[in-house]
Amino acid sequence: MSVAEVPLPAGLLTVDQAVEAVLAAVTGPLDAEDVAVADLHAALGRALGAPVAASTDLPPWDNSAMDGYAVRAMEVASATERTPVRLEVVGEVAAGAAPIALPAGSGAAIRIATGAPIPDGADAVVPVELTTALGPDGATVAARGGPAVGPLPAAVLVHEAVAAGGSVRARGEDVRRGTTVLEAGAPLTAAAIALAAGAGASRLRLVRRPRVGVLATGDELRAAGTDLGQAGIPDANGPGLRALVRAAGGEPVDLGVAADRLDDVVGRLERGLEGSGGRPVDAVVVSGGVSVGPYDVVREAFGRLGRVDLWRVAVQPGKPFAFGLAAGGRPLFGLPGNPVSTFITFELFVRPAIRQLAGLTPLERSRDRAVLDGSATSGRDRRTFLRVAAVRDGDGSVSRDGAGRAIVRLAGGQGSHVLSALAAADALAIVPEEVTSVDPGTELELWWLDR
Ligand code: AMP
Ligand code: MG
Repeated sequence: MSVAEVPLPAGLLTVDQAVEAVLAAVTGPLDAEDVAVADLHAALGRALGAPVAASTDLPPWDNSAMDGYAVRAMEVASATERTPVRLEVVGEVAAGAAPIALPAGSGAAIRIATGAPIPDGADAVVPVELTTALGPDGATVAARGGPAVGPLPAAVLVHEAVAAGGSVRARGEDVRRGTTVLEAGAPLTAAAIALAAGAGASRLRLVRRPRVGVLATGDELRAAGTDLGQAGIPDANGPGLRALVRAAGGEPVDLGVAADRLDDVVGRLERGLEGSGGRPVDAVVVSGGVSVGPYDVVREAFGRLGRVDLWRVAVQPGKPFAFGLAAGGRPLFGLPGNPVSTFITFELFVRPAIRQLAGLTPLERSRDRAVLDGSATSGRDRRTFLRVAAVRDGDGSVSRDGAGRAIVRLAGGQGSHVLSALAAADALAIVPEEVTSVDPGTELELWWLDR
């Protein structure tokens, strides 16, 4: 669903305007660095800064797809169960062994293991299941189709014809040397890592993971495991944001919990931006202290470190939100402290910015269409992001209506402090600005979240 631009109260930006402004201000991708293939498991999820070309054919040579006997297909063309063809077994080739040749002439076979190079002169492999092994005296040494283990038999009976190329994995069949196997910008999945290694790469250019400083602010916040006292609350956003940074493709840097004092907030942000005790951060995310209350010092702190660009966005939950730029164009995100608002504003503004810095595409979530099983209300002139859970069939798949739309229910209370509903949600359902109440069956745009 495309949400039409709607006139908003003066000074409010639409979500789209704010996202556009953030992404225009944030540069990226960051520089790329060489990573050895042996270390690639640590690079899971990073973006390629340059395409990867195969340095070898894959497979590098014709090899056997089966344990069996390498033959000339035309020599077994007449084989049937009742009139098998007898071939002398003249040698054996194992995986990793140097290739050997099938002698010229007729009536010979070479025992071959899966992955072993196809002998010169052979053009097919008869799987062991279609053979009977014979001793020197012509007696059966293993049952029909028995495994190709033990001493090399003198001969085999082939009970079925095989086509030329049968059970042969041809050189370059998967990947041709010199071709691009992974494009720049592709995220390194486990399969992409296996492909790069399998295609002979030894080092890859990978975009650096953005280092993102995370600072929670609030006099009431207590670090995990500390006594809450009379009016403390556990710091939920610090750990939550660091996890969000990692899931978005960044490397979180813990800047701690700041008191609601300008000097403490500025000091901690400066330390992150200067990199005291480590490398400088590429971006900063702060939670809390961004409203207009007497203790809300984050906007002023951003002003000390650089400039504050925008801060009133028509979103629910999530207003207010501050965005600025520090030296080097490094983005400063000031998110509201209510944990659900923190999460939603991260989702809207910070996640795409981190992905842009990390060189990852697409920037957005995959979108879907949903209908709400139930009803909901939503603030006027705000785009509302409902935390919803998909209704699922017995096998766990998402239930859909006749029009293919996912059926969703509210995941719990929609207050911006209700963490239990956030954790129970597997998607966000979007209520446009002009809509204030959602009736059952109304179609909504849906964003699936990471689980
Ligand atoms: P603020 O944005 O600082 O006005 O905070 C709004 C609400 O969110 C208040 O109820 C805060 O106690 C709460 N809050 C702020 N930061 C955190 C945090 N890190 N963890 C949990 N709750 C928070
Ligand atoms: Mg606060």
